[in-house]
Amino acid sequence: MEKCIFCEISKEVIPSSKVYEDEKSYAFLDNKPNNFGHTLLVPKEHSRNIFDMREEVWCDLATPLKKLAIAVKEAAGAKGINITMNNEPEAGQIVFHSHIHIIPRFANDNMSHKLYGDGGELAMAEKIREIIKKNK
Ligand code: 5GP
Ligand code: ZN
Repeated sequence: MEKCIFCEISKEVIPSSKVYEDEKSYAFLDNKPNNFGHTLLVPKEHSRNIFDMREEVWCDLATPLKKLAIAVKEAAGAKGINITMNNEPEAGQIVFHSHIHIIPRFANDNMSHKLYGDGGELAMAEKIREIIKKNK
């Protein structure tokens, strides 16, 4: 298999702003977020997308996804959350390791790619980790 960026991130070969990890999954901040707090949840076991992912791997994402939705919403001070998954290029998939987007939403937020200011990403990751710990 060619080098996969999200395999490398979940193995911590490539750095990311990690917000969550368990035996089966890994979550980190998107580096080109649509909104502040935009998080990606990936299974550690590689698959291209939903179509070749094992059922068990899919099921193991449910608990961390719920934890993250709650923590990301609170950390970002958002009113809502979008949970989305792009499967195949026609659906907007760019990175071919399965991942679920958790995107905070605000009223009239005109969602677009934004960058964090200095330190903003680290502070956001820390906030999400703290909320997950608190909610355990
Ligand atoms: P897709 O369109 O494949 O569903 O989304 C891939 C997402 O991964 C994009 O939102 C993009 O910003 C994010 N992304 C791509 N490469 C990296 C990376 O190296 N690090 C991080 N943190 N996010 C990435
Ligand atoms: Zn991979």
